[in-house]
Amino acid sequence: MTNKKVGIMGGSFNPIHHGHLVVANEVLNIYNFDEIIFVPAGIPPHKNGLKTNPWDRYMMVQIATVSNDRFTVSDIEIKRTGKSYTLDTLIQFREMYPDTEFYFITGMDAVIDLPNWHEPDKLLKLCKFIAVSRPGIDKDVIENKIKEIKDTLNGHIELMQVPMLQISSTDIRERIKNGISAKYLLPETVEQYIIKNKLYR
Ligand code: NAP
Repeated sequence: MTNKKVGIMGGSFNPIHHGHLVVANEVLNIYNFDEIIFVPAGIPPHKNGLKTNPWDRYMMVQIATVSNDRFTVSDIEIKRTGKSYTLDTLIQFREMYPDTEFYFITGMDAVIDLPNWHEPDKLLKLCKFIAVSRPGIDKDVIENKIKEIKDTLNGHIELMQVPMLQISSTDIRERIKNGISAKYLLPETVEQYIIKNKLYR
C-alpha cells in the first residue's frame, strides 16, 4: 500500500521558466500529487557538463517555486559527485520516502532516449514516467515512439501535451546572450537573478 504520491520534476532548468511551472501545476492537479520535488540535474551523464554553475540553476528553481507550498526543491543531484543517474536518485528517494508512489516528469525528448539511460528497466520498476511534449509535435509519431519504448522496457509512461511549453530554456539563453528581453517568459525574480549574476552572457 502506498500512502503518498509524489512527482519528481527532472531537468536541467537552465533556466527554469513559466513552461516548467505550468507543467508542474498541471500534473499536481491532474494526478493529485502530495508534493512535486524539482530535481535540477547535476552533471547529466549524456552531456559534457552544462556551462551554468549547478548551484545557480538550483537557486533559480528555489526562487521560482517559493510561493507554492506543495513544490519543493532537492539538491540531491547537484551534490552528487561524478555522473548523475536518475536511477540513483530514485533509489535515494525511495529510502527517504517509504510507501510512496513516484512519477518522474520530464521532457519528451529525454523520454524518447530512455533506452539509452543507465539501467532503464530497473528505473521503470521504481517509478512511472510522465513525458511532456511541446505543442506542434505530431501526436501519432510520439505515441508510436512511446508505445515502442513501453513494449521494449515494460514500463509505465504517460504522455502530456502542454501549450505553455512553447517557452524553452534554449530560447531564453539565446535572448539574454543577444540582449533581447526574456520578460514574461520566466518569473521576474529569476530574470533578476540572471541579470545580477551575469548568467548566459
Ligand atoms: P533537458 O536538456 O533539461 O531537457 C530536455 C528537453 O525536455 C528540453 O526540451 C526541455 O525544455 C524539456 N524539459 C526538461 N525538463 C522538463 C520538465 N521537467 N518538464 C517538461 N519539459 C522539460 O534535460 P535532459 O538533460 O534531457 O534530462 C532530463 C531529465 O532526464 C534530467 O532529470 C536528467 O537527469 C534525466 N536523464 C537521466 C539519464 C540517465 O539517468 N542516464 C539520461 C538522460 C536524462 P527546456 O530546455 O525548456 O527545459
